[in-house]
Amino acid sequence: MKFEHIQHPAPVPGATRAQAIADPGFGKVFTDHMVMIDYDEGEGWHSATLGPCEPIPLHPAASVLHYAQEIFEGLKAYKLTDGTMALFRPEANAKRFNASAKRLAMPELPEDLFIESVKQIVKKDADWFPGVEGGSLYIRPFMFANEHFLGVRPATKYKFIVILSPAGNYFKSGAPAVSVWISEYTRAAPGGTGAAKCGGNYAASLVPTGEAFAKGHDQTVFLDAAERKWIEELGGMNLFFVFDDGRMITPPLGGTILPGITRDSIMTLAREQGLDVAEEMYSIDQWRDDAQSGKLVETFACGTAAVVTAVGKVAGRDGEFTIGSGGPGQLTSTLREKLVGIQRGTVEDTHGWVMKL
Ligand code: PMP
Repeated sequence: MKFEHIQHPAPVPGATRAQAIADPGFGKVFTDHMVMIDYDEGEGWHSATLGPCEPIPLHPAASVLHYAQEIFEGLKAYKLTDGTMALFRPEANAKRFNASAKRLAMPELPEDLFIESVKQIVKKDADWFPGVEGGSLYIRPFMFANEHFLGVRPATKYKFIVILSPAGNYFKSGAPAVSVWISEYTRAAPGGTGAAKCGGNYAASLVPTGEAFAKGHDQTVFLDAAERKWIEELGGMNLFFVFDDGRMITPPLGGTILPGITRDSIMTLAREQGLDVAEEMYSIDQWRDDAQSGKLVETFACGTAAVVTAVGKVAGRDGEFTIGSGGPGQLTSTLREKLVGIQRGTVEDTHGWVMKL
């Protein structure tokens, strides 16, 4: 598909941009451009543009505002040590985007069009790359229903958009491990939308996450909705548990957990390192018992935003417990360094995960 390039009438002045990328934080600042592609039933995807990032007019009856047909992805553009920009496994994001689309009764987007859209905007706004250590360009592709119609059925019109936001290091390297709160709320039920990256899942996670913050924790642990005992994932990251006998487990993907791309990469890297990695259910009681007996030596969370982060403290209605020394363990640090190394080009990419721009 050909992209029409629309001239930005008033890009952000260089000095303002320089200031924004000196301390970008996360998701606060947006670059000059966006990609937009329309979908109409019968016609398919059409009218691809790379134009100014600007507000989009929505009719008050636009279906996304009523029935929340919306999905998104999150990935990053990194800078390799030789200065080249690169994406990490974008085809995995394209696949997951389409899996989400299917679950929300939305049209799929050809994978190569997803990747081409991401490449186009990253190249266009490359001068927004943050200057800070560990910085990246956070890429947010999303799709929403845009038909003016209030009947409850899948819409016939959609918009796919990609925006970019310069991002700093999520947790400074060497930061202490995070503390997590076990929520009484659940995130996803069997047969629900837990495996899809749809906005509604995140809307439902705001109250439990707010509760975790109010109690002084960094993240929420969600348990399964049926028995309320099996560990599923954090609000925005997958979990791994490391034992003293060299075993490592992560909860299995049963339709209620987001299939993290970092999760998949970590399983591959850990297996290559000789670890016995299994996708296995793990209960909250077992987690506490194993942490207290010393059988469990590390727990870490992983995702695009924070890469790999140790979990040091766990708290819930029944009290709290510490994992290992309460700080990042050996394997957590090794896996983090390896993954970050591949993403930055200092560790050889033997899996073809890095796509140079
Ligand atoms: N679980 C949830 C609920 C998430 O939002 C994310 C972030 N996309 C993850 C896990 C981690 O996924 P990924 O490694 O693909 O970023």
